[in-house]
Amino acid sequence: MQRTPLIAANWKMNGSAALAQQLTVTLATLSLDTTTVVVCPPATLLTRFNTPGNFALGGQTLSHESSGAYTGEISAELLQEAGASYVIVGHSERRMLNFESDELIAAKLKQAVSSGLTPILCVGESLQQRQQEKTQQVIARQLDAVYASQPELLLKSVIAYEPIWAIGTGESATPQQAQATHAFIRQHLAQYDAQAAETVKLLYGGSVNADNCAALFQQADIDGALVGGASLKPAEFAQICLAVT
Ligand code: PGA
Repeated sequence: MQRTPLIAANWKMNGSAALAQQLTVTLATLSLDTTTVVVCPPATLLTRFNTPGNFALGGQTLSHESSGAYTGEISAELLQEAGASYVIVGHSERRMLNFESDELIAAKLKQAVSSGLTPILCVGESLQQRQQEKTQQVIARQLDAVYASQPELLLKSVIAYEPIWAIGTGESATPQQAQATHAFIRQHLAQYDAQAAETVKLLYGGSVNADNCAALFQQADIDGALVGGASLKPAEFAQICLAVT
């Protein structure tokens, strides 16, 4: 099954209008062929990218509601109006720091898809869960919470496996560890829609950089990356975008 690659940048609460300009210029020089590049900056910076030519924009979260009295929240429609066509849903930092539950994440993913945004659903285990050999159990729960009651959303999703212990630590999962979990995710998703499980793009995230990305991208079930820290360095992010084929 041929899946085209996708590289997403997660700026988190970093970056600036100046960096948006720099990254736009750097990415404009790349010939990306079939690779999709998605940049997810803080929402206030979405409109500070020059109309993106060879890359798409994404939000880092969205509200599960479409509008109303939700101070501080941002809707799918507002993200779209600012230029986004993707949105990260269920990042571990939001699960932990903003207490986002599996149920809320399922509602957000539904809201994203019904508004025409492509969600990038993040799943992954903590170090303790890995040590207790609960990785598959945790990921199965995170996937089931979203897709068991709404399997039709799988076709419209991108999924990122981000082991929490690898995020921002400089300690990426090994290509073998990542591949094993990606294969599990694809196999688990097949119960919902066997064809969608084959076509869904599975990204790896967690300390991806220019040095370790090529070995990760060689793995059969890794279709790209969700890049945090290294996406704030335009030259390195460009190298990562070019390393995936
Ligand atoms: P990192 O972050 O690349 O800095 O580890 C990845 C992420 O949290 O999406």
